[in-house]
Amino acid sequence: MGAMGQIRFLGTAGARFVVARQLRYSAGTWLELDHTQLLLDPGPGTLLRMRRARPALAPERLSGLLLSHKHLDHSSDTNVLLEAMAEGGRRKRGALLAPSDALQGEDPVVLRYVRDYPQQIHVWQDGEPVQVGNVQLIPVRRQHGVETYGLLFDSAHGRLGFVVDGRMTDDLPERYAGCVLLVLNIVCREWTPDVEHLSLPEGLELVREVRPRLAVLTHFGTTMLRAGPRKLAAQATDRLGIPVVAATDGLTLKSTAWGCPFSEDADLPSNNRT
Ligand SMILES: [Zn+2]
Repeated sequence: MGAMGQIRFLGTAGARFVVARQLRYSAGTWLELDHTQLLLDPGPGTLLRMRRARPALAPERLSGLLLSHKHLDHSSDTNVLLEAMAEGGRRKRGALLAPSDALQGEDPVVLRYVRDYPQQIHVWQDGEPVQVGNVQLIPVRRQHGVETYGLLFDSAHGRLGFVVDGRMTDDLPERYAGCVLLVLNIVCREWTPDVEHLSLPEGLELVREVRPRLAVLTHFGTTMLRAGPRKLAAQATDRLGIPVVAATDGLTLKSTAWGCPFSEDADLPSNNRT
């Protein structure tokens, strides 16, 4: 028996209006996989939501801070978390993994003086695996205006896929093949031209092709919130025959929820908030 893995959605906001009004929290996602702690996309309020979580999540325990892209709702707490991960800057600790345009070019989001804090700074290369603790990460290039990478997490808990922000592209079903858990950022309920995000129909089509054991919808814009993510997820479950849940702020998924690897039974979380 190994340790249980878990994922905690500290925030589920997904569009500028929802973030600005904090209709949902805009904090990132905490992953604990095979004793390795990772934080994906530290948006506004991530440090606060980590400290307020019960039990609290300590940035000093993080092995890696992962940035999918530099948009504010994914990156604004990067600097403060790099300092916190390094125990307030007292010693070099942890790794930062980020796209090149988060670090270089005209508008980098990582302050230069903070770059001394992590032990390692790694720049994503599409499809090139990188090891952090007991987890192997594989970045998947997405189309989203700024340089953006979805992620595959390979560990004792199976292959987990985070699709992150970006428009639908033909390569996605193949790139996310084999995922037991698929997490999708669904900003819009309907497909909308010139929006570089997955709409709900596109996201569900990807779920149908990848066939994970569990799919999680998150990163909601106003059209999704108005329609009720929980209801939409229940309808998708019926239609696809694959469990689909809508994330809520603070939702914790244990690895048994995606059936890996220490339990055969899917233990689905109750999801009783919209
Ligand atoms: Zn974005």
